[in-house]
Formats: sequence, structure tokens, C-alpha cells
Amino acid sequence: MPHRLVLLGAPGVGKGTQAELLCANLGACHLSTGDIFRAAKALDPSERTPALTAALEHMRRGELVPDETVLALVTERVSCLRCEGGFLLDGFPRTVAQAEALETLLAREKLKLDAVLSYELPLEQIVSRLSGRHTCPGCKSVFHIEARPPKVAGICDHCGGKLYQREDDRPESIRVRMEAYERSTAPLADFYRRRHLLLSISAEGSPEDIFKRTMDALKCSLLVMTVIGPDRPGLVESVAALVAEHRGNWLESRMSRLGGQFAGILRVEVPVEREQALVAELRRLESRGLTVVVQPDRPEPSTGSASESVLEIVGQDRPGIVREITHALASFGVNVEELETECASAAMSGETLFKACARLSIPASCNAAEIRQKLERIAADLIVEITLAELPEPPRS
Ligand code: AMP
Repeated sequence: MPHRLVLLGAPGVGKGTQAELLCANLGACHLSTGDIFRAAKALDPSERTPALTAALEHMRRGELVPDETVLALVTERVSCLRCEGGFLLDGFPRTVAQAEALETLLAREKLKLDAVLSYELPLEQIVSRLSGRHTCPGCKSVFHIEARPPKVAGICDHCGGKLYQREDDRPESIRVRMEAYERSTAPLADFYRRRHLLLSISAEGSPEDIFKRTMDALKCSLLVMTVIGPDRPGLVESVAALVAEHRGNWLESRMSRLGGQFAGILRVEVPVEREQALVAELRRLESRGLTVVVQPDRPEPSTGSASESVLEIVGQDRPGIVREITHALASFGVNVEELETECASAAMSGETLFKACARLSIPASCNAAEIRQKLERIAADLIVEITLAELPEPPRS
């Protein structure tokens, strides 16, 4: 599943490092507006547009670049947003106006964000991280004079490049950047919280620790739930709305109206950290007459190879048909995976016909001929017609 993520956090929390680790693991496209501006700095001044020259001046002072310039750059790179492996936006959006523009851009591309990862760290740790940070101009590796020093002072371990301190990591710029962050970027957390997209992640510890926390936050749980309530419009919608609100994914379902009730079984995937909130809200639907039972979806351990077959039954309705047949199937260890039955009037005689269709899972160890014989005997006793589709060859292991 592609991941479409925004990375939020004050300068120095390690977003860039996390973005690289996430890209390597998720195969998503990394789009860093800060990297784009830094690359522009290497251009010959004659190749820069006036807007870009002005942007670099803002950047040098630690200020935010005007929204229009940033948005123009991102719009030029819209193909990144279409990347099949998803995308990671690092350093963008940084203002509510940019977040709104991103929403419009994504809607136009018919894409949705999956989550906004908000990295959080106390201010004094941020300042210490930034002021000791040294970067390689060649491979962009980041070192820290205390926490992650290079083997040879001032030289990149990976490519031998001469490490430098970013202009905006100097103390006077750090203060301006932190103010810009508090004023412009911090309100984004609320913007995304209201959209149920925000995942808060502690940025304390090593990059590996933070990465593990990130991957855990992105994990999903699989839930199976049954839903039943008096049939009325909007019932499925109320469940679907809650699943979507908690960033869940509706995977499969079977639903039906029967005897004035509407019931269904469904399987959904939901981010681990939203699971409890979703279950609590589903339970609250009981006050509206809907009973929801939620269970974790734990795939059963495989008990060897099995083949599938379809069983059909038609005959005059009488008590005990389902019991007799399911009893016989169970005695062979055959599992009924799906069962649909109905009683209908026969076209000519008007008598009540019982019809059933079942999908069966038949263990490879079963003797197909014995099952068939047993079903034929029951068919004769109950005066019904039973057809069992030809059993396919069990898969060879
Ligand atoms: P970063 O590497 O993300 O910390 O970005 C470095 C600098 O580039 C910032 O301090 C800003 O001057 C500028 N910049 C990067 N992204 C944006 C953005 N989305 N909006 C405004 N300015 C930005």
C-alpha cells in the first residue's frame, strides 16, 4: 500500500533523517522544499529567477520563503505526488495557507494523505541538535559534533566531502527559525488534528529509535466486526463514516436485510493507534439501535492444503435439511465458508422450495468419493437434490 505522508516538526527534530529512512523502507518519493532551495543555492546566480533569489535571501536569514514561491516549486513537481510508491513531504507544508493549497492540489490529483507525522522534542534539545549539526554538501549526510561525530573531524564518513554548517543552523538564524515555526507551522498540528490525520511521535533518542516509533505508528490492525440493527437508511453509512474518520480502510463485507433487520460482517484495516477510539465510537452506535461486535482478525494457522467446492441443495422445504447436511460435512472435517439459503415458491406447483448454496473448504486428507456417497444417501432420505461441484485436484506440495 503506498504511503502518502507529511512530516511535521520544528527544525532540528530529525525530519530529514526520518524521511530518508522512510523512503528507503517504503519506496516513497521524498520531496523536501528545504533541499530544493539548497540545490538552488548551487546554481549560477544568472540561472535563478528573481523569486528564487529572494527566496534564498529569506532562507539565509532563517525566515520562511513566501508561500507563492514555495507553492510554485511544489506544483512544478506534482509528478512526485503521483509516485506509485507514495510520497513524503518534508518541510512542506509549513503554513496553513500551504496546507490548504496542498489539499486542493491533492484533490485535483484524486489523492489523499494517509497521515501527518508530527515529530516532537523539547526546545533545549532542538537548539543543541541544530547548533552542533554539520552537513555534507555531496551526499547530504548529517553529523553532529557531539551526538554523531564523523570519524575524521570535518570530513564526511561516506563520501569524503568537507562538512559545513548550514547558514541557517547558526545561532542567530536558529532563533528566527524557531519563531517562524511557532508562529506559522505549529498551527498546522491543529489543522491536521481536526482532519484526524495527525500522528504525534516523540523525536527523542537515536534516529533508529525514532524510526521504529514511526513504523509502529503507521502499522495497521485488522478487525472483523458484525453489525446488526433495525433496517433503515443510513445504517451502513454511519459505520462507514466512523471507519473513514479513523483513517480505516473498509476491506471486505457481506451485508443483507433479513426479517426487518439489517446485518453484516465486515473486515477493516485501521492504524494501530486509532483502533481503540474506533471501537469505542462503534460501541456508541448502540444508543442508535445498532449492535456492533468487534474482534481482532487473527488468521488461523494453516492446517494443510484444502480445496474449495460448491454445494447446492434444492428440494421441498422440510425441517432438518441444514442440520443433516452440515452434520455430515462436519464429520469429514469440511468447513462451510459461506452459506446462503432461501425458501421460495415453486413456479408451477406453488409448494415451498428450500434452496441452499454453500462454499466449502475440503481438506486434502478427505476422500471425495466418501463425501459424495454420504451426501447422495442424505439426498435420497430427505428427497432433495444435492450437487457437489467436481472437486479440483488438491494442490501438490
Ligand atoms: P528545512 O531544510 O526544511 O529546514 O528548510 C530550510 C529553509 O528553507 C527554511 O528555513 C525556509 O527558509 C525555507 N523553506 C523550506 N521549506 C519551506 C516552506 N514550505 N515554506 C517556507 N519556507 C521554506
